[in-house]
Amino acid sequence: HNDSFAYPTRPDLMDWTVDHYPGLQGAPTVLDIGCGFGGLTMALGKILPPEARILGMEIRAKVTEYVRLRIVAARKEGNLYQNCSVLRTNSMKFLPNFFAASSLEKLFFCFPDPHFKRKNHPRRIVSERLLSEYAHVLKPTIGRLYCITDVEELHQWHVAKCDAHPLFRRLTAEEEAKDPCVEAMIHETEEGKKVARQGGNKFYAVYERIPDADAP
Ligand code: SAM
Repeated sequence: HNDSFAYPTRPDLMDWTVDHYPGLQGAPTVLDIGCGFGGLTMALGKILPPEARILGMEIRAKVTEYVRLRIVAARKEGNLYQNCSVLRTNSMKFLPNFFAASSLEKLFFCFPDPHFKRKNHPRRIVSERLLSEYAHVLKPTIGRLYCITDVEELHQWHVAKCDAHPLFRRLTAEEEAKDPCVEAMIHETEEGKKVARQGGNKFYAVYERIPDADAP
């Protein structure tokens, strides 16, 4: 239900300092989309610089509140996690309301809901239409899109959609190995830990936001 979500009409109307990153300036740079219980959001808080702004986005109210309290508690333990926060929203609807063009460095899609039935494929969080939104908010060359799933068919869908999109290029295995966020994405989400306990497979791919064709 849309009206249960507060969202700005334009990204510049959002104040991130007060509610999300006290002591830091600027909008988020990294999104953990469908963050669930926030394990990756917080792991990224330790891996990425203290001045990064990492935002978990979650549609479920209780789960979002759990992550918020988890961050509050962890911040009290020391000086860590000032760079982490969480926001309740439907990221499939409101991303352009929150984030300006070329403003984000990383987008994570970890173990998204598979929506197996063909008639539900339009509800998948990686789709042709949404990839254009993701390309819009990601910074060319620096921007990366990460996706991981235990559902092989969904992985093939991710790869097919991203490979077909003119603004994304898949990283090579060598490039992936140099990025510490890849290890975090594989091991630090709650869903990923569950899959590991159950002996399941994890399939992932990382894409770079390439410059627009008409850019200099
Ligand atoms: N990424 C987490 C992990 O790996 O542990 C959670 C994975 S869970 C299977 C998928 C999560 O995405 C759920 O917490 C769900 O509520 C959330 N979600 C689904 N659709 C969403 C949307 N449109 N916007 C934000 N979150 C969404």
